[in-house]
Amino acid sequence: MTTLYLDNNATTMVAPEVLEAMLPYLKDHYGNPSSMHSFGGHVARKIAAAREETANLIGADPEEIIFTSCGTESDNTAIRSALASMPDRRHIVTSRVEHPAVKVLCEHLSKEGCRITEIAVDGQGRLDMEQYEKSLSKDTAVVSLMWANNETGVIFPVKTAAQMARERGILFHTDAVQAAGKIPIDMKRTAIDMLSFSGHKLHAPKGIGVLYVRRGTKFSPFLIGGHQERGRRGGTESVAGIIALGKACSLAAANVNLENSAVKALRDRLEQTILQRISDTKINGNTKERLPNTTNISFEFVEGEGILLMMNEYGICASSGSACTSGSLQPSHVLRAMGVPFTMAHGSIRFSLSIYNTEAEIDFVIEKLVPIIDRLRRLSPYWDDVKQSCVLH
Ligand code: PLP
Repeated sequence: MTTLYLDNNATTMVAPEVLEAMLPYLKDHYGNPSSMHSFGGHVARKIAAAREETANLIGADPEEIIFTSCGTESDNTAIRSALASMPDRRHIVTSRVEHPAVKVLCEHLSKEGCRITEIAVDGQGRLDMEQYEKSLSKDTAVVSLMWANNETGVIFPVKTAAQMARERGILFHTDAVQAAGKIPIDMKRTAIDMLSFSGHKLHAPKGIGVLYVRRGTKFSPFLIGGHQERGRRGGTESVAGIIALGKACSLAAANVNLENSAVKALRDRLEQTILQRISDTKINGNTKERLPNTTNISFEFVEGEGILLMMNEYGICASSGSACTSGSLQPSHVLRAMGVPFTMAHGSIRFSLSIYNTEAEIDFVIEKLVPIIDRLRRLSPYWDDVKQSCVLH
């Protein structure tokens, strides 16, 4: 059975060109970039080139790029660094729908004495800008708001939010793990101080991340040790990962238009056909300010896990909006924050596409999904009652 992969917000396939670029650095060129000999020097030059390619994707300067191990490390480093550089301030502003890499860290920091404000979102996942403005105070050290949401794809107005923070002398970090490579980013045109992203979301391998730190921003390293990354992140570089990331960033920069045309068209085809052919379905999240590759759809009267299991029989990979916590299915904190009704949240599925998906794949998913939902609804003890009550009232 072939795999039909529509779960690209979870992770992506390593692009063939990326694999080809990194392989020699796992095999022949295994030198340490810090070594004095030319065997290591060659590797150091390749890292410098990859740093430039990475910086280009987001309109940054190469010196503003710090290579880390993942998006989570970048998020943790940014927020902890901001707190360290503003020792008199203990307030953090974030949102209710952040990834655990930010959310759980903030919960942890609240136990260490920080005050956390989680800004609410509306029913479409849009940030409450009024509450945001009111939340910024003299005690606020850092704002951390995601650029795009991993579950719904909803895009936050981070440029406006960063400008508001800068005017008040507050550092601004954004988790751009889902945004980088999918929408154009030009750091020269923003007031964002720090930005995180991750290789495995844009066709590089797992284990390589990026933290952008604007020149002049006070910075305090998270990993202390060697002088690597100009003393901003100790530890021998993940050489093959960095070279892979550089290549992936070059490809992403070249393909960002494709994301916003071809990938978006496939996503829209999937979404529109599902809405037309399957009753009692609804899109979660604002459909205007949204990533081009993501759709989060609720199927009323069925459980997401059931849909995933049945799609899995056909090799179709996607994600559901609920997670199993202590034996019971809990809707995600993102859908809860949006006020999505319990039954709708339970039946939500996230499809996230990439440039490697085809129209034939999308049509195959629809062909299989229509009878899957029909079958699951017929199995549901509530389905007959619901249909009955619809007829009666
Ligand atoms: N932030 C967001 C929005 C994500 O979607 C993810 C991963 O799913 C992360 C952070 C964490 O990235 P990593 O898996 O590289 O640690």
